[in-house]
Amino acid sequence: MQPTDNLWPRFTRPDYTQGMAAKIREVPLPRKLRFMEVCGTHTVNIARFGLRNLLGRAVEMVSGPGCPVCVTHGADIDLALELAREKGVTVATFGDVMGVPGSDGSLWTEKARGRDIRVVYSPRAALDMARRERGKQVVFLAFGFETTIPAVLLTLERAMFEKIPNFSLLAFHKRTPPAVRALLAGKDCKIDGFILPGHVSTVIGRRAWDFIDEDFSLPAVIAGFDAADILSGIHELLKMTAGKPRVLNAYRRAVTEEGNPRALHLLETYLKPFAASWRGLGVIPDSGLKLKEEFHPFDAAKRFGLTPQKAAAPRGCICGDILKGKSFPSDCPLFAGTCRPDQAVGPCMVSSEGACGAYYKYGRRVLP
Ligand code: SF4
Repeated sequence: MQPTDNLWPRFTRPDYTQGMAAKIREVPLPRKLRFMEVCGTHTVNIARFGLRNLLGRAVEMVSGPGCPVCVTHGADIDLALELAREKGVTVATFGDVMGVPGSDGSLWTEKARGRDIRVVYSPRAALDMARRERGKQVVFLAFGFETTIPAVLLTLERAMFEKIPNFSLLAFHKRTPPAVRALLAGKDCKIDGFILPGHVSTVIGRRAWDFIDEDFSLPAVIAGFDAADILSGIHELLKMTAGKPRVLNAYRRAVTEEGNPRALHLLETYLKPFAASWRGLGVIPDSGLKLKEEFHPFDAAKRFGLTPQKAAAPRGCICGDILKGKSFPSDCPLFAGTCRPDQAVGPCMVSSEGACGAYYKYGRRVLP
């Protein structure tokens, strides 16, 4: 059946996308503006659809701390490697993190050394594994923002309900608004507005971002993920730059004012905020989420006595500056030479949502 125009994704309509890009180029601007996208999926789609080429020279898009694997501190990666070396432990995790280098190799390296590390597509698959293989300690290694945390917590809830004793979590969960606040509070912040993450906002709601205009007088737009969504969001940012800044929800088909109450309730029930370390951004108050004390029996760090050690960034890698919007992947001397997807030096090249990986795959000929 031929899809109707309503159902057909708008990014397949070049007339709409080109028209929106033309509108962006026509907005008179006093100076070059720098907007940040705070979501790895936006980063990838901006590169994938070639949107930088359409924006003209007056608008620059920089990537922010929107890729959960990329922002995970090297010390936490080392902790995951330490866990994988524990006897009798099976680590289950998403494929994205497998190649992220720690101080001594990656999870792929450990797997090659014979550790039991398995790639899964959902936390529930890890729980199924624990149910089937009672003689093993199965740990789900979780990275992510507010978007993916509820699914992990539902799995934990299930494990507790079924009393599955050989299942636990090693989680490095993070909250995005504190990271954006920390960026804006930085002395040398040169960001004129934000394209905010649609997925995260589906959970936390539009209001969670109000501080951007209330405390920093900057505009922000919650946007969806096709080319038309992103370009419309940028156009709205430009209009607000000339007028009153606010946080606009341009993704109302998924995002509400208050967010998803069921998901937020899960977060409040099981987790509490703490000052987490981010790659490149340092320690940010209330930006991490860890299990409350009563759920510590399911915390793999407690169960196996893991303690974080100091870890240095990979030599020559400027992921930290890229995650702060201070540099582009092309500024890194290792980009596309020593560092490539098949031999990544830093996480921004490994992850499918990393800026370096996206630029390498889609944008090497159109880099700014
Ligand atoms: S190109 Fe590689 S080494 Fe350079 S910043 Fe990106 S991930 Fe790090």
